[in-house]
Amino acid sequence: MKCTSEFECGSGKEFAQAGPMRWRMTLRADQPGYDHYFLIRLSAEESSGIAEIEVHPDPATPPSQGAEAFDPIRPSSLWRRRGSDGPWERIPAELFETVEGFLLVRQPVRPGEVWDIGEVCPAPFSDLARHAQDLPTHCPHVRAVQFGETPEKRPMLLARVTDPDVPAAEKGRIFILAGQHGTEFAGSFAAKGALDFLASRLPEALALRRRYVFDALLCANPDGNAHGFSCFNSEGKDQLGAFMNAATVETPATVEADLIWRHLTNNSPDLILNFHAYAQPRPFGDPPHEAIYVPDPGWFTDPERSRQQHVLNHALFYLTGGGSQHRRPCPARIGTLEHAAAMAWDSLSALYQVQAQQGPHQNLLTGVHVLRTIIEALEMAQAESEGI
Ligand SMILES: [Zn+2]
Repeated sequence: MKCTSEFECGSGKEFAQAGPMRWRMTLRADQPGYDHYFLIRLSAEESSGIAEIEVHPDPATPPSQGAEAFDPIRPSSLWRRRGSDGPWERIPAELFETVEGFLLVRQPVRPGEVWDIGEVCPAPFSDLARHAQDLPTHCPHVRAVQFGETPEKRPMLLARVTDPDVPAAEKGRIFILAGQHGTEFAGSFAAKGALDFLASRLPEALALRRRYVFDALLCANPDGNAHGFSCFNSEGKDQLGAFMNAATVETPATVEADLIWRHLTNNSPDLILNFHAYAQPRPFGDPPHEAIYVPDPGWFTDPERSRQQHVLNHALFYLTGGGSQHRRPCPARIGTLEHAAAMAWDSLSALYQVQAQQGPHQNLLTGVHVLRTIIEALEMAQAESEGI
């Protein structure tokens, strides 16, 4: 029997055999708060029976403190699939438990079987990139746009969705992104849902493509995704706060953030929708345990934009699950893309934390719902202010 994390999105370290059918491994944490993701591959080889895997916390990274502290070894659900093309499924609750400071996962195996086992259902960068490249064959209003490369030469690839028969100058611009934190896959599922809805044959999608140019970046941190890094890129930097002073004097702090900033400078967005993800529900809060981080409407210079951000914040709080984990909207942080874009272009924005344990299809629906809710609220507010 073998156990490894040497594959796309794999994560874990210090693998050691602890018995004929038992392995132990340690979580590989980027920093406090990002100390629970793991994804391993178990190859049964000649073995048959119940394989056991011990998952130990990373001793180098103490758990985060305070009310939002999350226990890295007490997940509410885990995921698995048999073989590299099997469907991902939830692991039955009776097959994992927390024992003496570590997580113990059991997996029945037969000779020759290979099982992937992880904290969340992954969305590997190679799948997301292929999707962006294939979508134009299904919808003539989509094209894939590469706008640079990561330090490890993976493409920064977005899908642009718009009806080319309407001049760009007559349309609004909406930038959708996900995966700044590479293993927050539920955010990429949500962004993919929004993208696929926009590229669909629904009359509503056709109409939206005449009114907006949508740029959807399903993975903003391809290297981090591929390496299974919870927070960082391949250079050990966090993409979330990489935009400090980008609107005024400084270059964004990562290669990927700089590429995104340059792209937006040439395509200044009216609205940015940034999907992140929570890996597990936390005991405080209510289902679906999702969150929103929104700008202070006072950040905007144009009073109309300030009013629109108020509308957007209320739309997300009252019409989506985004207030459920914290029972309030959380303030967007200084140094994020959302903050820098408000400073540079008065861009409206929201960062939405999708709940990974809802599963990929529910995440997809959340992405669609969040996008539709925001656009509908903003368009209604626009019509109201114009007295239509
Ligand atoms: Zn995140």
